[in-house]
Amino acid sequence: VQNNGKSFVEFRDVTFGYDEHTVLKHLSFQVEEGEQITLSGRTGAGKSTVFKLLLGLYEPGEGSVWIDGREAAAIDRKDRRFLFGYVEQSFHRVAGTVKDQITLYDEKISMENVKEAAELTGLHDTIMHLPDGYDTICTPELFSQGQWQLLSIARAAAARPKLLLLDEITANLDAETEKEVLEALKRVSENRTVISISHRVSAKMGRIIPIEQKL
Ligand code: ATP
Ligand code: MG
Repeated sequence: VQNNGKSFVEFRDVTFGYDEHTVLKHLSFQVEEGEQITLSGRTGAGKSTVFKLLLGLYEPGEGSVWIDGREAAAIDRKDRRFLFGYVEQSFHRVAGTVKDQITLYDEKISMENVKEAAELTGLHDTIMHLPDGYDTICTPELFSQGQWQLLSIARAAAARPKLLLLDEITANLDAETEKEVLEALKRVSENRTVISISHRVSAKMGRIIPIEQKL
């Protein structure tokens, strides 16, 4: 199916519920390439659900979801990481080294990509001070909460995706650390399309798209 529209991301009259309970009702919005927008709405309104549809984890009951001219649910799993980076509140550590955290063992992500991503997020110097640098085995104590969050941004950025999806990524951080993460995000977001979800006014970026709770 061809996308006739020109938008980079598009929700076209989407209705979706996990069960008989409708979460999104006739939701339409468009995001242009390079644009940075924030989804805003009350808890339970369906903001993370919008991401799950973009990630292709679920298909809309009615309507359609498009990314870069393709229907989200039809995008090949292998292509996903290179099309969009998804960052959430908590970091999911994998077994292995600091480098493995960033590549997720994907050989298509070169050491150059890894370093570029770490530099963008401001973690490169920290990593170089570890006993084995990028080859240091990761334990939970190795980084602070803010540094783990930066690492999850580096993980997303390393694949150089066109689109970043950020779900409440500064919600657990103190104001100082939040500032640091937002600065890293500004660098990573340059020349990318960014859709973020945030309750905090300090973390809202660009145009606001309201997601209303459907009762
Ligand atoms: P918050 O701001 O609290 O993160 P949200 O806007 O991200 O909220 P969603 O997580 O998208 O909200 O959830 C929307 C609705 O869908 C809620 O009523 C939630 O309970 C329900 N829901 C979410 N995930 C599932 C699931 N896997 N199965 C069934 N219901 C779900
Ligand atoms: Mg949510």
